[in-house]
Amino acid sequence: VSSLLTRYRTFKVLMIGDSGVGKTCLTHRICGGQFPSRVEATIGVDFRERLLDIDGEKIKLQLWDTAGQERFRKSMVQHYYRNVHAVLFIYDVICPGSFNGLIAWIEECSICPALLRFLVGNKSDLRDPSRTEGQVSQERAMSFSKAHGMMFFETSAKNPPHSVEDIVVAVGAKLKRH
Ligand code: GDP
Ligand code: MG
Repeated sequence: VSSLLTRYRTFKVLMIGDSGVGKTCLTHRICGGQFPSRVEATIGVDFRERLLDIDGEKIKLQLWDTAGQERFRKSMVQHYYRNVHAVLFIYDVICPGSFNGLIAWIEECSICPALLRFLVGNKSDLRDPSRTEGQVSQERAMSFSKAHGMMFFETSAKNPPHSVEDIVVAVGAKLKRH
């Protein structure tokens, strides 16, 4: 019962990026679920919550999975950005087009300069170490994130090597201090 009375500081976090990069799978994963065996293309907006304890402080991350936004874009964006605390800009590490596409999202987002911003390369499990073309290198992503004042993570919603938990903890800790 006491847990029901615990007060959580709530933060709204947007999941942004091209269709197919894994926003929905990452949202499920971060919010304690398994990797979904099948995902529907999301319509409208969906949100899930994740409770965290960062050094004794109770934090609630409210993840907004911005499905369908790929198509509606401009009209939806201003609505989504209300009262947002942080944005995860997500791309697919084996789809350079999804990385190049982020610049447009970042520009849109510049209407809210106070936002905490994170760059997330998803599907790291699909990386092929024997080749470089057709993949977004960590070096490239790292320098991009520095140029845009973002923290960078590579992750996989599906399989190791990278757990989503590193992102969860970093986002929670940053928000707590913000
Ligand atoms: P969204 O359109 O950005 O919401 O992307 P979805 O979450 O619907 O994922 C698109 C496709 O990528 C689905 O077939 C997922 O199973 C797959 N997917 C998502 N994340 C990963 C990942 O980390 N690794 C692999 N291998 N596949 C992924
Ligand atoms: Mg989706």
